[in-house]
Amino acid sequence: MKKLGIDIGGTAVKIGFFNDSKLLECKRYAGVDTLAAFSELLQHPDIIEFIDDSFIGIGIGVPGVVGDNCVQSCPNIPWLEKADLMGILSKAHGDGYQYGLDNDANVAALGEAVNGAGSAHPTFAFITIGTGIGGGLIIDGQIFHGPGGMAGEIGHIATGHEFACNCGAVGCVEAIASATNIENRADGKPLPEIIAAAKDGDYASLQLLQQSGEALGEAIAQIALLTDIRVFIFGGGGAPCLEIWQPHIDEVISQRCFGRTADDFTVIQATLGNDAGVCGAAALVG
Ligand SMILES: [Zn+2]
Repeated sequence: MKKLGIDIGGTAVKIGFFNDSKLLECKRYAGVDTLAAFSELLQHPDIIEFIDDSFIGIGIGVPGVVGDNCVQSCPNIPWLEKADLMGILSKAHGDGYQYGLDNDANVAALGEAVNGAGSAHPTFAFITIGTGIGGGLIIDGQIFHGPGGMAGEIGHIATGHEFACNCGAVGCVEAIASATNIENRADGKPLPEIIAAAKDGDYASLQLLQQSGEALGEAIAQIALLTDIRVFIFGGGGAPCLEIWQPHIDEVISQRCFGRTADDFTVIQATLGNDAGVCGAAALVG
């Protein structure tokens, strides 16, 4: 069973080529910055040559809000705004295949569920630490969307600090614990250097990671109090901070999570890295 997983990002479109849910190859296509260019990409020889009798379909992940099988909003990629990607897929390849579309954080969570760190855990929260903090909930192996399609906006859980968030609120976990926010508070020092400095005992770096780790612990505790989810998987460029975050997260969970201690939780790093998007997109079909 062959299928494609497409991950549309701000700088490139990545396409994963799959056979029986196994990623054979992932290719990047730059310069796709209009719907017409995307339609053209769907006719690329790489794709046409891949499609044979065992081909079942194409899934797409986008960095925006998805509803009614359409991109409802996509502030970072204007050409995707209101785009009917499912219609474009049907037009390109006909109605004989399955097509899927979902938000990129949900898709990355599904990728980890099928091919990565979540494969042993039917129910978990995926938290992606990058420019912001995104998330996706996998419940019994399926993405939980919520009635409005916006479940899993973990980045905007309030965690009791005074920093303003890009969303307009104050105290969001994203405003203290996203990779970008940690770097900004370290005068632009890249995150790997902050982690290395913390390991060397640098007080300022340790403080930054303690603050961000505690805020994430609070967010995790709130998610757990509401849902009793016990497994949390960290992805994105900031995930390696977990090495330093872990004791702080554990401490807050133990303090804040009624009836449970840190031992009841599994908090781990994602394993697919940049491939999570194409893996999850492909998992939307089949
Ligand atoms: Zn916010």
